[in-house]
Amino acid sequence: MKNAPFEYHAPRSVDEALALLAEHGDEAKVLAGGQSLVPLLAMRLARPSQLVDINEVAELSGIRALDGTGVGFGTLTRERDAERSSLVAERLPVLAEALPLIGHVSIRNRGTVGGSIAHADASAELPAVAVATGAEMVVRSVRGERVVPADEFFVSHFTTSLDDDELLTEVRIPSGPAGSGWAFHEIARRHGDFALVGVAAMVRFDGDHIGEARITLMGVADRAVRATAAEAALAGQAADADTVAAAAREATKDLEPASDMHGSAGFRRHLAGVAVRRALTTAAGRAGGSS
Ligand SMILES: Cc1cc2nc3c(=O)[nH]c(=O)nc-3n(C[C@H](O)[C@H](O)[C@H](O)COP(=O)(O)OP(=O)(O)OC[C@H]3O[C@@H](n4cnc5c(N)ncnc54)[C@H](O)[C@@H]3O)c2cc1C
Repeated sequence: MKNAPFEYHAPRSVDEALALLAEHGDEAKVLAGGQSLVPLLAMRLARPSQLVDINEVAELSGIRALDGTGVGFGTLTRERDAERSSLVAERLPVLAEALPLIGHVSIRNRGTVGGSIAHADASAELPAVAVATGAEMVVRSVRGERVVPADEFFVSHFTTSLDDDELLTEVRIPSGPAGSGWAFHEIARRHGDFALVGVAAMVRFDGDHIGEARITLMGVADRAVRATAAEAALAGQAADADTVAAAAREATKDLEPASDMHGSAGFRRHLAGVAVRRALTTAAGRAGGSS
């Protein structure tokens, strides 16, 4: 199938892009890396009459150190550039671990950090990392700029709190608490496939005991979700195998993942528990604790 006809725009500045989005509203779609949008156009699952290609907007690219800790990504930063960044390796180990799991190199060469976040696939690695780390999205329109925390940005399957006239311009990902250990673990049928489930975990110790833990699951709900009850139960515990297994049970017991041709809900729930256990164990080891 071929795409439905559209008018093509290639703005060269953010202001020009915002003016186009303001003019065309829900008739317009932003084109970034095209790795998700182009197939949707070709299958006519998306039929915008206006395509706003932001690839010529130089100010939307680039990786920068944020004050203190963390990294800011211009929305057009290619996933592959983030993967190869020494700043990401140093400051965002969980992102460095997640990025190579996105599709294949050819996809990451074109796919962008902001495109993946704006696309909001519930099985995608970057939205899960954004939720796990408490990332912030910088969003602009002709009406002004707002900064949206990850837990308010992702609404549901392929749905964000972006308005039709808004452009995601930067993704700011904090490094997390000092001394924390992070891990990203996912289970996919084949390398390069979208994962059946994935987990980002963080552990920080206070002495011999867990001071703080974070568990974020992807592929089990309509967006990446934090397992807050399991996180709270881990605080003050030793990071031994029994504690980690109990946290995995708590984190997954109420999940109601989809059943589809790739696996039943029960299978996914089971895999989620396995992934939580593995990710927590690795994160605790990296934070310097036992498990
Ligand atoms: C074969 C294949 C396998 C893949 N496997 C994975 C995988 O395992 N994990 C994974 O996470 N992803 C996977 N992807 C998707 C890939 O990561 C995409 O690059 C990503 O989801 C979208 O990024 P993009 O830059 O290509 O965005 P596009 O396809 O250009 O856009 C995606 C959506 O976001 C909107 N958008 C883009 N940028 C902005 C912006 N700045 N402001 C507002 N809206 C914007 C677009 O309008 C569109 O609706 C795969 C893709 C393919 C083709």
